[in-house]
Amino acid sequence: MRPAPGRSYDRSRCRRLLGVDTLFQAALGGYLLKTGDPMAILDIIIAPHPTLSRRCRLVRPDELGQDLAAQLSNMAETMYAAPGVGLAAPQVGDLRCIVVADPGAGEEDEGLTLYQMVNPKIVEASHEMTETEEQCLSVPDITVKVTRHLTVVVAWIDALGQPQRELFEDWSSIVIQHELDHLIGKTLYDRASRLKRSRYLKARKKAPRPLPM
Ligand SMILES: [Zn+2]
Repeated sequence: MRPAPGRSYDRSRCRRLLGVDTLFQAALGGYLLKTGDPMAILDIIIAPHPTLSRRCRLVRPDELGQDLAAQLSNMAETMYAAPGVGLAAPQVGDLRCIVVADPGAGEEDEGLTLYQMVNPKIVEASHEMTETEEQCLSVPDITVKVTRHLTVVVAWIDALGQPQRELFEDWSSIVIQHELDHLIGKTLYDRASRLKRSRYLKARKKAPRPLPM
C-alpha cells in the first residue's frame, strides 16, 4: 500500500533506522544472521495480473527459519524503496501468507515499527467502520475509496514461528486490512468502479514497459 496522499516520505531516514542488521534482527526475533546476506529489491507485480487474483496458502512449519526471514527482509526493503507502507507476498510473486507493513513510514514524528507477519489473521474487528482513499503499489496512479474496520486485532507468527498479536487502530488498521486483502487475491483493481478500471487499463497501455529480457 502507498503512503496516504500528502504524506512525505524520507527513504534515507528509513534506511538509516532500519539497516540490514536491524531488519534481520527483527526478522529473526533477535538472532542475527552471521552471513549478512545482502537484501534485494524485488519486482512488484502490476494489476491486472493472474498472480494478484490468487488466494495465498499458509506458510508451513518446515518453511520457518532463515530463508523465510530473508524473504521478509527483501520484502521490507522493496516496500521502503517503493516507497510504501505495506507489501504482501503475492505482489512479489510469492503466493504464501506473508505481509510486511510499516504504517508509520513517512510520518515525521512517529517511530518506525516494521511488522513482518507470517500467516496473519484478523481475530477481532470493530463494528465501527471508516472510509479512506487508498492507493496500492500494484495498481499505480489510481485512488479507491474503501470502507474498513476502524480497529482490528491481528494474530500472526514471526519467521521463527513465535506467535504475535496486536491491536491496530485507524491508519494502521487500514494498512493491515489492505495487505490482508492481497492474501485472498483482492486488490484495489477489483474494488475500483468500472469507469476507473477502464481508465486505468488505458493508462497502463500507454505506460512505458521495460524491454523483455
Ligand atoms: Zn496493495
